[in-house]
Order: sequence, then structure tokens, then C-alpha cells
Amino acid sequence: MIFNFTTITWIIIAILVIDFVLERVLHHLNAKNLSAEIPEALKGIYKEDEYAKQQAYSKTNDRFSIYTSSFNLLLILLMFVFGGFAVVNNIAESVFENPILVSLLFFGIIYVADTILGIPFDAYKTFVIEEKFGFNKSTKGIFVTDQIKSLVLTAIIGGLIISLIELIYNQTQSLFWILAWVVVAVFSIFLNMFYSSIIVPLFNKQTPLEEGELRDAIQKFATSVDFKLDNIYVMDSSKRSTKANAYFSGLGKKKRVVLYDTLINDLSTDEIVAVLAHEIGHYKHKHTLQMLVVSLLNTLVMLFLLGLFLGNDALANAFGVEKANFHINILAFGLLYTPISVIIGVLINKFSRHNEYQADAFAAEHGLGDNLIEGLKKLSVKSLSNLQPHPWYVSFYYSHPTLLQRINAINKIKK
Ligand SMILES: [Zn+2]
Repeated sequence: MIFNFTTITWIIIAILVIDFVLERVLHHLNAKNLSAEIPEALKGIYKEDEYAKQQAYSKTNDRFSIYTSSFNLLLILLMFVFGGFAVVNNIAESVFENPILVSLLFFGIIYVADTILGIPFDAYKTFVIEEKFGFNKSTKGIFVTDQIKSLVLTAIIGGLIISLIELIYNQTQSLFWILAWVVVAVFSIFLNMFYSSIIVPLFNKQTPLEEGELRDAIQKFATSVDFKLDNIYVMDSSKRSTKANAYFSGLGKKKRVVLYDTLINDLSTDEIVAVLAHEIGHYKHKHTLQMLVVSLLNTLVMLFLLGLFLGNDALANAFGVEKANFHINILAFGLLYTPISVIIGVLINKFSRHNEYQADAFAAEHGLGDNLIEGLKKLSVKSLSNLQPHPWYVSFYYSHPTLLQRINAINKIKK
């Protein structure tokens, strides 16, 4: 050990290890739930050979997740043992005097190093696993430019937010949490509204859905439920993966629906309309807005707590740094906050699954239940979804109910 571990150092390490163990236990339970025989309820959804492929895909991903999370745990433990965070802090302080620039350089170094170390894993996932199961369409060129674009984008957005909230903290510590929250809220709402028009075009091309049968069918349904829909776009997601999806983004007039080109290839017109009805259901139930409110409330509580810990020397000592500073304390707080964020994650997933049922019900109530079921089945089979995850695994990680749960719920409404 390069520096003396304090009680807080040990608490942080315990949190990291417990979090790792919890994740492995959940994965293990989930893996045990797989069975070689097609269960009765799934017959007719998967064919024998597709089912075997799905089981193999689940197992491969599970094994891969053991490597990635073990590597990540090892990395951060080594950073503690060798006082790595203090070293990076010293480097940043030797380059700049201005505390905001020091923080930006500190986070910059950590983030770039972490990204570079993660590249082999990302590449293996894309070009070995996804390739082997026939999902990958990405090229090395796309992969490399994607990595660079994400890095630059995170640097800009993350850098701006960090600079602003540190500036606020240096001006006022009593009002820090509420002012920092305003900054985060403005950014969140802005990103929510302009995600499709600013961020997505950096990675994908979106073209208005051409006139024709599909567009007419979508418009007809939208009008019938009194939903004004001017912006329907098709996104060229097939350049990366064969997996299909559709989503809504934006609020108010900015709202648009985006269909993956893969979705249009895989599903019939009626099925696409049903998927869209589901999305309109989210909108009618104001789910996007509710999620935004929930996440902003969550941020408010977190920033309030963060404000209490930012000036605390003991947190910095836990990293081998003598005096409290903005970036080290944020990092320490972030790690100590892990148990709370895990619990909040479980609650948010529960809320999200509840919303998914409501959106499905909206489609079913408008007579599209069967089409939705057929569409969802196709999507699940095409993406080799695990149809029998362990219930605990679902609680922790699933934002959507499983296919079987959704089919059962939709069928109940039809009757
Ligand atoms: Zn949904």
C-alpha cells in the first residue's frame, strides 16, 4: 500500500466488492435458469435451432460479462493499492493552477484511460461475439470513428457540466445543490428535446419515412387516436447491427418517432403500426415527462448529499489526497453512493416496466394486441432475447417486462 488506507477507503472497497458479488450472483442465477429443452410456454416462439442459438448467445454474453466486470474491479482496486488517484491528482495540479482546469484534466485523464482500456472489450463484443451470432454489421472504420465521436461528445458535455457546477460550488456552498440542479435540469431538458436533431445525426442518418402504405397506415392510426405526428424518420441502424427497434424522442412540438430501418425490413405494416401504437401509448400516458421528473428529483437529492460531502477532507484522505478537492470528493462520493444508486435503479426499472405494460395496453385497447404480440415475438427471436430470465435479474436489470409477461398481459386485455 502506497498510502494508509482510512476507514472510508475500506468502506469504498467493501462497497465495490459487494456490488461485484451481487452482480455475479444475479448473473449466476440467471444462467442457471437457462434450460436445454424449450419450455412449454415458449414453444411456437422459438424454433429448436434458434432456441439452441439463443441459449449459446446468453451463455457467451454471461461469460464475457465475468471478464469485463472482473477486469474493472481489479483495475479500480489496483488504483487504490498504488495510490493511482492521488498520482493523477498530482499530475493535474502540476499542470494547472485554476481548480476548474485541474478537475477537467483529472477527469479527462481518468476518462480517456478508462476508454482506451475498454476498447479491447468493446471490440471483442462487436467483432467476435456479435459477429459470431450474425448481428454485427459494423466495420473497423465505423467502430473507431464511433469511439472518437463519443469521446469528444462526452468531453464537451461532461466538461461543460463539471465546469459549471464547480464554478457554482466555488461561489456558494449553501446554495450549491439547488443551483447545480438547475444547471443539470437545463442540460437534461435540452438534451431530451434536441437528442434526435443534434446527437443522433453525429452517428446515424435519419430520413423522413417515404410516402406509401406504411406512412399512410401510421398516419391513419395516429389521427384515429388524436395524436399529431409530423415527424416520422427512418434511421440507418443497419450499418451497425441487425437488431431492430423504434423510439420516440423530444417533447412537445419537437417530438418525433424514429424507426430503425431493420424494423421496417423485419416487421409487417400492421406490426409496425402496433409497435408505434405502443410508443404513442407512452406519450399519451406522459411517460417521457414522468421519467424526466423522476430522474430530476433523484438528481436533486443526490446533489444535496454531494454538497454535504464536497468539502470533507476525510473523503480525500481515503484516496491518499491530503485536502478535500472538488474532483476527488466527487469520485469518492460517487463510489459511496453506489448502494443508493443500485436501489434507485431497481425502483426506476420497476416504474419503467409498469409503464411498458401501460403502453402495451394502449395498443391492445385499440385492437392491435395480436399485431403487437407478433411484432414483439419477431423482435425477440431476431435479437435472441433470453425469454426466461431469473425474476431477481429482471428486478435489477430489466427496463421492460419479459416477452412472456407482456404476451400474457396483452392477452388478458383482449379478453
Ligand atoms: Zn415501451
